[in-house]
Amino acid sequence: MTTSANVYVRISQDRAGERAGVIRQREDCMRRAADRGWEVLAVHEDNDQSAKSGRRRPGFEAVLDDVQSGRVGVVIAWALDRLQRNRRDELRLYEACQAAGVTLSLVNGAELDFSTAAGRYVADNLGSIARLEVELKSDRQQSANKQAAHEGRRSGGRRPFGYDQDGMTIREREADAIRTAYRDLLSGVPLAQIAKTWNEVELHSGQARWAEGHKGEPSRWTGQTVRVVLSNPRYAGLRAYKGEIVAEAKWPPVVAQETWRAAVAHLSTRQAVPRKLARRLLSGLALCGVCGAPVWGGGNARQNVPNYRCSAAYGHFARMSEPVDEYVSAVILERLSRPDAAQLLTTTKRPDTAALHDEASTLRNRLESVALEFADGTLTASQIRAITERLRSRLAELEESLADAGRVDVLGPLVRATDVRAVWDGLSLEHRRAIIDTLATVTIHPPGRGVRTFDPATVRVRPKGEK
Ligand SMILES: [Zn+2]
Repeated sequence: MTTSANVYVRISQDRAGERAGVIRQREDCMRRAADRGWEVLAVHEDNDQSAKSGRRRPGFEAVLDDVQSGRVGVVIAWALDRLQRNRRDELRLYEACQAAGVTLSLVNGAELDFSTAAGRYVADNLGSIARLEVELKSDRQQSANKQAAHEGRRSGGRRPFGYDQDGMTIREREADAIRTAYRDLLSGVPLAQIAKTWNEVELHSGQARWAEGHKGEPSRWTGQTVRVVLSNPRYAGLRAYKGEIVAEAKWPPVVAQETWRAAVAHLSTRQAVPRKLARRLLSGLALCGVCGAPVWGGGNARQNVPNYRCSAAYGHFARMSEPVDEYVSAVILERLSRPDAAQLLTTTKRPDTAALHDEASTLRNRLESVALEFADGTLTASQIRAITERLRSRLAELEESLADAGRVDVLGPLVRATDVRAVWDGLSLEHRRAIIDTLATVTIHPPGRGVRTFDPATVRVRPKGEK
């Protein structure tokens, strides 16, 4: 029985390669097959010069496929440097040939018979050299990425939304949309609504396409991809590495750090209200006074009275929502109307954000130098744990204060207003919800059996954070 073979030819980038090269490679390989009595099943070809092929080499992949599926017993190529373009591919080929016992026959080079012990020995050595190179390269790449991160530089990749391909130059149109989105988000506009707006004004990004897994289609934003964008520390001019912020970025920020922190805090704490439920002032914000479950809006204005009900499986109450909304709004407005509203409402005074930023960046530097001292052997493991914990907890405090400073924006229009009630009435439902969420925790109790009039004692409005 004759052995089946495939032939692999390739034009490489580095030689002024031309078609003639491929024809000669192919002739030599076919002659090799004829000399040995191998039957050639397929000739696979790659052209690295073609821009279309990108990084993938369909011919090489087809060779691997033939080997792995057992279709061929021999792979014929002109020379080793024609066969592989990089060490990673080389390793894949060795491993596939070894696993399938396939012979690799090079017209200008050795014949590696992976079905014999000697062939496997050679392959093992070639393979481990290739593996070492791949790993060294990846180590180098990683440390280069890490260094770039700690210097606040980016390390390549696709164009970030809001910036040019260089990642440094702001694209004003997109950046404007991002700024508005942060403001909207903090005023309670849902992510899906922001996505819809971005789609309507035809803002496209690689990010949206990537997140949806589409290829070649115009990218559509979704709530999820907008969330990815707004959570990205890049927009606050911060450089993250492996999920941690490690430096101030070299690129200009799109929004203030406190705005970004407030947005991240908002995104992580917000409880999603199921879409099908009626959106009322307090749905998903207020809690049941009996069990602590969120209170949802129910009832349809046409069929019955709009109400709030406890969302637990056997809800603890359902009661008219209008008097509750009216009462909670009144409490909130009363607080906002006081002369010292700005201070009262943010619990602490608006912090000096510049000082907070400075301290945070000092702490980050300190964390980094601690790691170095540990590497130097100056500190013991338990010392470093203690120091790191202390630094991290202070850093967390600072980040919280910065987020608080960002939240003040939501209240801005009201705190500065002379007629608070008029401004309040003019705000969107979402904005009013955001204000309540910022300022207060609302607890709704059952109205009491057979009670017809509204009793303010059954609704508690406490300043946020107070037990
Ligand atoms: Zn309940």
